[in-house]
Amino acid sequence: MKKVMLFLIFLIVIISIICLFKNKKKEISNSNNNYEIFSFYKKQNLERYEKYKAKTNLSYKDTIIQVNIGLDNSYYTNTKEITLFNSLMLVNKYNYVSKDFKIPNLKPVKEFAKDNMYLEKECMTSFVKMARDAKSNNLNLRAISTYRSYEYQENLYNNYVKVDGIRKADTYSARPGFSEHHTGLAIDIDNIKSNYLNFENTEEFNWLQENAYKYGFILRYPKDKENITGYIYEPWHYRYVGIKVASYIKKNNITFEEYYYEFLDN
Ligand SMILES: [Zn+2]
Repeated sequence: MKKVMLFLIFLIVIISIICLFKNKKKEISNSNNNYEIFSFYKKQNLERYEKYKAKTNLSYKDTIIQVNIGLDNSYYTNTKEITLFNSLMLVNKYNYVSKDFKIPNLKPVKEFAKDNMYLEKECMTSFVKMARDAKSNNLNLRAISTYRSYEYQENLYNNYVKVDGIRKADTYSARPGFSEHHTGLAIDIDNIKSNYLNFENTEEFNWLQENAYKYGFILRYPKDKENITGYIYEPWHYRYVGIKVASYIKKNNITFEEYYYEFLDN
């Protein structure tokens, strides 16, 4: 009798252990499924997704995108060199270009710009078209900073660091190689009359808010997206991505980082 009882207890313990194990396995595979339904899910990042989601409580989709951007690690870690020019290339605090990176078709901006401004050809013609249309509405758009060489950015950044220290300088200035201005696809804009730092309070800014996407431009570092772009709100900095992508980004109120890691990262 005693033996039978012992055997039964033993059996119950074994069955319980098997059930527990099976449930655990099911839990893990369920959680995998939550991520796997997204085409931009990367198997090798699963552990990072789980850690980041536990920390941030974001949706599964945003968790995947933000981890793929690299945001679960601090800025300037696990950086990747971009070697080829592409009009939808992403240069940010995780992706950089080298000192001798070449932009095909770098052209001078002959109208609506300060002296010695250069942009990639398609970006330049789109900007000039946009500035011309703004002008016909009595608004002045002027390119005040466009393509920058590595050396130029190096000087600029080092001077900011001297004044403000690395921590603060990093919030508004890119380290050399990591500036979008290296791509020839980014423009800082003012309205001639007032300092660019005040651009947000101008008619020209309001017009760009309504119309920039029609010419293929996006406001690259929007308000309340600092945690994704890594930069403070910059009402003056625009990036050329083409009309189709600019329209999608505006309509969905996302950053270029989010667009890139949802549709272009492969
Ligand atoms: Zn800029």
